[in-house]
Amino acid sequence: MRVSAYPLVDAEVAAGLVLDHTSFLGHELVPLGECLGRAATEDVRAPASLPADPVSAVDGFAVRAADAGQTLRVLGESAAGRPFVGQVEAGTAARILTGGVLPGGADCVAMFEDVRVDGETVSVPAGLRAGTNFHAPGADVREGELVIPAGTKLGPAEIGLAAALNLPRLRVGRRPRVALMSTGDELVELGGSLGRGQITDSNRWALLAALREAGADVRLLGIAPDEPEPLRKLVSTALADADVLVTSGGVSVGTHDLVKPLLESIGTVHVGRVKLKPGKPFTFATLDSGRVAFGLPGFPVSSLVTFEVFVRPALRKMQGYAQLQRPLLRVRMGFDAQATAERTEYHRVTLKKEGPDLVAFTTGSQSSSRLMSLAGAHALVRVPPGDQGLKAGSFTEALVLALPA
Ligand code: AMP
Ligand code: MG
Repeated sequence: MRVSAYPLVDAEVAAGLVLDHTSFLGHELVPLGECLGRAATEDVRAPASLPADPVSAVDGFAVRAADAGQTLRVLGESAAGRPFVGQVEAGTAARILTGGVLPGGADCVAMFEDVRVDGETVSVPAGLRAGTNFHAPGADVREGELVIPAGTKLGPAEIGLAAALNLPRLRVGRRPRVALMSTGDELVELGGSLGRGQITDSNRWALLAALREAGADVRLLGIAPDEPEPLRKLVSTALADADVLVTSGGVSVGTHDLVKPLLESIGTVHVGRVKLKPGKPFTFATLDSGRVAFGLPGFPVSSLVTFEVFVRPALRKMQGYAQLQRPLLRVRMGFDAQATAERTEYHRVTLKKEGPDLVAFTTGSQSSSRLMSLAGAHALVRVPPGDQGLKAGSFTEALVLALPA
């Protein structure tokens, strides 16, 4: 065993360094049907008002409020998509259906339930008020209004809004191209047969899922052995068309840990160890032409927690999201969390609503090999270093991964 030459960096400082060295990758114009979950990278302003025309909110009769309480001659009908072409004048009305354009001259709609129809005439109630029962032009969206600010994650409502405004494409952040590689002589392909001391390469699948969820376009490089030359070859081929390299394993101080020297030889290592549990050997390097590399620890929980803390915010910055971090929510501790002397610990918890509070409960043993500590977890509670820990009943902020269903 060697002693690591890398200083232990505060987790917050390391996260800041990662973001300082990552930048927006630029945008592309994408058909609306493919925009779900992507970041809008320019402000979208309404090119026209919604609705464009005054349209009825109910089924009834388009009339003039001045004719309230009278019996009116019915001139025709305005249905959705089939507007009435004439004018509603004093003493007249037009039948109107929900979504039908309010005819010229009419200033309100009397609801079907409130009128009496007799042949070609309709008696409307007293007390009609101009402006009722229809949507005025621009009532939903005014022309020029900011409807989708740059940095917004596009969900069903934003996509619907863009479609309502007749925008077939939106400008979104380019997806980062990520090359993902596992390292370790003990690793076997998923589905393969395992010899003594061998394990399946589970990090690849966990990290592939995490990367995709964060918007990355992933290229799988497979497993690299614990030998410098094959590792170097795999990495240099992969970097030809990747923005980001993500590796797992091979970053601790054992003699087979080759990722740090490799990154040093092809770039600049900014972070080689962090005061974080799990995830102490996390490594971050910049390569040429703005590319970056993340050497994640091999232990499955360490690789996913360091992904959350360092990689996900960076991928979001590359794509132009305004919000880089997971939401922080105030939670009440439902258990005593022990602190680690020198390192911030991210304790995996489930959350449960109790009265006005969200209460955090431990997922059990926090061993960095125990994926069960993260499976089903709702949040990560930050336990500051020292000897205090967080006591049951105290309040703290939790990084929310998923809210309880
Ligand atoms: P390392 O950082 O390479 O020393 O790995 C630390 C621990 O994580 C070892 O027990 C490895 O077997 C385990 N590990 C490394 N890579 C993976 C992987 N891709 N999938 C699952 N476990 C892994
Ligand atoms: Mg290894």
